[in-house]
Amino acid sequence: MAFQDLEVWFVTGAQLLYGGDAVIAVDAHSNEIVKGLNESGNLPVKVIYKGTVNSAPEVTATFRAANNDDKCIGIITWMHTFSPAKMWIHGLQELKKPLLHFHTQFNKQIPWSEIDMDFMNLNQSAHGDREFGHMVTRMRKNRKVVVGHWQDEKAQAKIAIWMRVAAAWADAQDMLIVRFGDNMNNVAVTDGDKVEAELRLGYHVDYYPIGDLVAVQDTVTDAEIAELVKVYEEEYTFADNAKEGGKDRKQVIEAAREEIAIRKFLKEKGAKGFTTNFNALHGVDQLPGLASQRLMAEGFGFGAEGDWKTAALYRTMWFMGQGLEGGASFLEDYTYHFDGDKSAILQAHMLEVCPLIAAKKPTLEVHPLGIGGKNDPARLVFTAHEGTGVAATVIDLGNRFRMIVNQVDVIKPQPLPKLPVASALWIPQPNLEIGAAAWILAGGTHHTSFSFALTQEYLEDFAEMARIELVVINKDTTISNFKKELHLNEIYYLLNKALM
Ligand code: MN
Repeated sequence: MAFQDLEVWFVTGAQLLYGGDAVIAVDAHSNEIVKGLNESGNLPVKVIYKGTVNSAPEVTATFRAANNDDKCIGIITWMHTFSPAKMWIHGLQELKKPLLHFHTQFNKQIPWSEIDMDFMNLNQSAHGDREFGHMVTRMRKNRKVVVGHWQDEKAQAKIAIWMRVAAAWADAQDMLIVRFGDNMNNVAVTDGDKVEAELRLGYHVDYYPIGDLVAVQDTVTDAEIAELVKVYEEEYTFADNAKEGGKDRKQVIEAAREEIAIRKFLKEKGAKGFTTNFNALHGVDQLPGLASQRLMAEGFGFGAEGDWKTAALYRTMWFMGQGLEGGASFLEDYTYHFDGDKSAILQAHMLEVCPLIAAKKPTLEVHPLGIGGKNDPARLVFTAHEGTGVAATVIDLGNRFRMIVNQVDVIKPQPLPKLPVASALWIPQPNLEIGAAAWILAGGTHHTSFSFALTQEYLEDFAEMARIELVVINKDTTISNFKKELHLNEIYYLLNKALM
């Protein structure tokens, strides 16, 4: 349902060389393919057939219309016959929406006993799509190429991933991230060029004084708080001190007040994410841990200590994963467990881990927090479930953004009776020794956006749309090859000024 108002346009390429019967057949086949894709149930966004283009003016008109239609999040092209690619130049120059080149053909198999020259002239995407692909490559346009018969579920799955990413890309183009406070003093990796982020990724990042939030907090009513605390009681197990009559009940009430205020604030601004900073809490009762956890679960981006890049990336990863199994969370590399091949990283934060990744019903607890100098904050305590996911970050290298992605295997931790925060324990692929070394060589953050629902393919598609650098650390990574990749990327981006 999340993507129901969006469209992907399907544009078929051909030319008029083959006569009127061919034009009619191309159109009929295209309609059948689009109908088949929509009825497969495997695509999250509806495909709209926009007709066959046979000339440069038709291509340009179609792509201009796509640029100007907010519902259209991307274009799928397919060359049914040979479509001389000079006719695509002007349209491709203007195209602003993500492009997927679907290299398919109408018939699944060669009709061995029937095939004749008319069939060959009509069904020639095998060479028509190569002509089109040449031009897209020559123009240095990023796109996803999916190869396979249109009824093949594997091909459909790749299109589905690209659609989710294109939807998230559209979502990023008017993404406002609200920052309550700046980055933590002197922290480098969470900082970056906000102007370039708006140019490159679409994010608009704005600072708001915490006093503006306090003003909204003052308007929160007792009735609103009572209603929200009732929701907490339905969704979580309560520690004794947090229950009604418990000695720290007041902090639960104050946590609810903060949550209501932040949600109101974000909605009033039309913001899709926010950051906090434990040094900027004047007029606020406690570090908004519970609020951050619950707002993340609703899809608001979140980054701690002013980390707006991770807040935005979380929003994007949550957005892509809507309706899929497995949740997402902001996380931080905290501490290591060295244990040979099973060496792992404990992921947590002071408070702010999203309950979408919880193995079971979280507990709402109130404990002291030795940092920030505020009242004891409420938080949800839980352990992440097991499974494979991706951890990602975006860093600013001074001349470009680099996305770093690591596939990780979340495993079961030992109980942590004296660490009352939510956490996850994972082994980075291919192992801690190579995974952490590669991450550090790439300049990766200690904060990540993590998702069980996504794979590296989603982030690869996203990096292509944003035209930012991507490096992936997975089971195939070796340090010597990874170093070479980083070195080669330096040259690539120096030579491609347009990407910087
Ligand atoms: Mn942190």
